[in-house]
Amino acid sequence: MHQLTKTDFIQYLNCPESLWLLKNKPNEYPKGEFSLFLEKLIKEGYEVEEYAKLLFPNGVDLPENSTPEFTQQQLNSSSNLFFQPSFSTSKGVFARIDVLEKLPNDTYHIYEIKSASSIKKGKLEDACFQKYVLQECGYNVSKVSIIHLNKDYVKQGAINANELLEVAEVTEQINNIYSTVVNDINAASNFINKETINENQCSSRYKTRTNHCDSFKYFNKDIPEFSIYEIARISAKKIGQLVDNNQLGILDIPQDFELSVIQQAQVESVRKELVLVNEPSIQKTLNSLKYPLHFVDYETYPTAVPKLDNMGPHNHLVFQVSIHSMQENGELTHFEWLGSKLEQPVGMLKKMQNFTGLTGTFISWNAPFEISRNKDMLVWIPQFTDYLNYMNNHMFDLMNIFKTDYVDFKFHGSTSIKKVLPVLCPQFSYSDLEVQDGTMALDTWGRMVSDPNFKEDIEQTRKNLLAYCKLDTLAMVEIFKELKRI
Ligand code: SF4
Repeated sequence: MHQLTKTDFIQYLNCPESLWLLKNKPNEYPKGEFSLFLEKLIKEGYEVEEYAKLLFPNGVDLPENSTPEFTQQQLNSSSNLFFQPSFSTSKGVFARIDVLEKLPNDTYHIYEIKSASSIKKGKLEDACFQKYVLQECGYNVSKVSIIHLNKDYVKQGAINANELLEVAEVTEQINNIYSTVVNDINAASNFINKETINENQCSSRYKTRTNHCDSFKYFNKDIPEFSIYEIARISAKKIGQLVDNNQLGILDIPQDFELSVIQQAQVESVRKELVLVNEPSIQKTLNSLKYPLHFVDYETYPTAVPKLDNMGPHNHLVFQVSIHSMQENGELTHFEWLGSKLEQPVGMLKKMQNFTGLTGTFISWNAPFEISRNKDMLVWIPQFTDYLNYMNNHMFDLMNIFKTDYVDFKFHGSTSIKKVLPVLCPQFSYSDLEVQDGTMALDTWGRMVSDPNFKEDIEQTRKNLLAYCKLDTLAMVEIFKELKRI
């Protein structure tokens, strides 16, 4: 019999098939590109838990991975507050409670800790799951609360857990969904213990690509290479119409099927294996940019619990920048900066300003990200207000060209720089780099500057991080040159 944990249950609610695969064929379960990101979220959850414990000075910390039997012994002790007690029903439904309070009337108060800065509407099934397990084990749960980060918290000096966190009682909301959740828990237990399920398709066939998990390919082996899911911004309704007609590939789409102009261009590009380029529009856009051109890219470190004064939960600290500056004659110079500790990048902005001056156009890929970071730094490092405002007022998003004016079937409907670069400039590649993406960069940097057990070579790690960020801006330069050559 497979055990069902709270995490399993939430996965079941999102997708029963993917949980079945994880439980029954773990070797076939794809370890997705978000796994590193998820690991970081888990680590953040632990950090928030440590602050939450400060709200309960008399709490008894049960040993990590202690058993339900051990919990039972502890609940009979004189304490009335426990961290991480575990419970398991006779059907293998398992819960580890973040904080459990024994109330004077012999009922229990469950506290669930979340690293989010609000309680998402309709997202209380996990807390309800915890209540179910306790009730099944014979404990009367009379109260349920969620402890989450206070979204308005701004760090000033030492962190006070009472200011950082908010406690919200959700007993009534939990009671309102209880019977539905119990049905779902029973269904989940039965489902994961099925010997077989239909592994030839899953319900996300009717959803757009952003809803697909890493198991989509496993359950939908009949989807062809250039599939309908790659069509930019296609609606779920249109996906549904095409799936119902078994038109799964772009080549299967009927000529008269209604699509936007951009979507039609993409379909056309696949059908004829052509690159569709709106040359006048691209040249007009590029000619409007003012030299020198500063191709810029930030790497950032977001943390649930703010690390520096004036920062709030989940704010991003900019720890790295790469800038390639291009003069009108094509001359290229490079600036890079990589922080060595958790601190506001005052030194970086000072050197950046010296390097670029308040001149020319700044170019980034997915510019809203860089613009948002600059807006944050305007508040935290106000001495650079003029410079940061100049950057934001003269920022151009190179990615936008690939949304409208340059369509190549080889991008597979993506405008990510990692998809565009190898098609336009095959001589450049991210694949040889040690640091492969932004998540890896922030994880590596975060460990390097704050983990006392960091064992890797710091010089080499810095080189790897610098090489990754440098390629991001060099890639933009090379793509820009290709566009100019059209
Ligand atoms: S893509 Fe398929 S397997 Fe993945 S979440 Fe959606 S329904 Fe589940």
